Amino acid sequence: MTSAAPTPHTLLTPGPTPIHPRAVQALTRDMLGHMDPVVFALNRDIQQGLRDMYGAAPDTFTALLAGTGSLGMEAGFANLVESGDEVIVCANGSFGHRMAEMAARYGARVRLVTAPLGEAIRPEDVAAQLDDHVRMVAVVHGETSTGVLNPVPEIAELLRGRDTLLTVDAVTTAGMEPFHMQAWGVDYAYTGAQKCLSAPPGLAPIAVSDRAFARFHARRSPTPLWYADLDGLRDYWVHQSYHHTVPVNLHYALHAALSAALEEGLEVRQARAAHIGQAVYHTLEPLGFRHYVQDPAQRLPTVLALRLPDGLNDAAVRAELRQREISVTGGLGATAGLIWRLGLMGESARPAPYRTLMLALEDILGVPGLAGRFTETLTEIEDAVPA
Ligand code: PLP
Repeated sequence: MTSAAPTPHTLLTPGPTPIHPRAVQALTRDMLGHMDPVVFALNRDIQQGLRDMYGAAPDTFTALLAGTGSLGMEAGFANLVESGDEVIVCANGSFGHRMAEMAARYGARVRLVTAPLGEAIRPEDVAAQLDDHVRMVAVVHGETSTGVLNPVPEIAELLRGRDTLLTVDAVTTAGMEPFHMQAWGVDYAYTGAQKCLSAPPGLAPIAVSDRAFARFHARRSPTPLWYADLDGLRDYWVHQSYHHTVPVNLHYALHAALSAALEEGLEVRQARAAHIGQAVYHTLEPLGFRHYVQDPAQRLPTVLALRLPDGLNDAAVRAELRQREISVTGGLGATAGLIWRLGLMGESARPAPYRTLMLALEDILGVPGLAGRFTETLTEIEDAVPA
């Protein structure tokens, strides 16, 4: 074991993100029991904060699952899908396909709606698969594997007046972009604490509509996933009775990070990500980096997917960055070696870490002036915003 003080790390991955300083501090609070009145008061505050973050109706059930974003995903299918249900899953990247696999494991007859990598799901393709037998449509809002933003409001519009639940993976959007669960008509949404909120990994904030609860209560048999059973969760989060031992220290940290996000304001955070993303792009474009997602309207503001210039050795450059304590993520599967995915969620969407990246790239690529160009461009973008 080594005892040397760690060098500060610049984490520019599309999750996890650097932990918010207030969340770091909150982690050091004295441990309390999961049934302590102070913890229940904190949980109530978290539930209200999550309603605000998701744009949910005032009485919407919100909670934290003790697991990562994938548990949020799995809990949705485990609670709301039964064997034989027809489910449309939109899959234009790794996480959409993960949804499809989970839905199938819980017995869904999956109707897959796909789009080429780097392109958004087309609502007309969803409409073409939709009929009265479809019990749920599931879609990833921001597909982290490609940096694509899927048209959730348009897909939601197709479901108006139908008895079809809408499940949305909000892992790369909720907490950094306005999300309108009630206005859009979303029934189940989830994220992971370590993404846009910049809290430690290990919690999945969820929101469940009344309609989703009604579907859950009409099940023919209990969910096979006892740990995330909606009634069990409600026992703890609403009726304050024991279900399982929640990670109280992670609740403290998430509460701090969520409060910081809501105090800052989701529109402000959205602009912060957009401005830094634009400045990064303008700085790197002359080197040959290009947007991977062609249509600007389909670009996810929180994950900047950049096609690498010809001749840039992805593995070697990222290894050199890692030597300098800078983490940058490459492509997944078909895009491995072709793209970088730069995180612009939570505390990664700050000027300082991107300036650090630019200084390192100046050195590694032998191109001076990147950090200066980044700072100047960001200042110009921010100055151009009407006060
Ligand atoms: N959904 C999306 C869009 C993601 O980006 C991720 C993780 O990157 C997940 C789901 C799964 O979350 P986790 O890795 O926290 O289980």
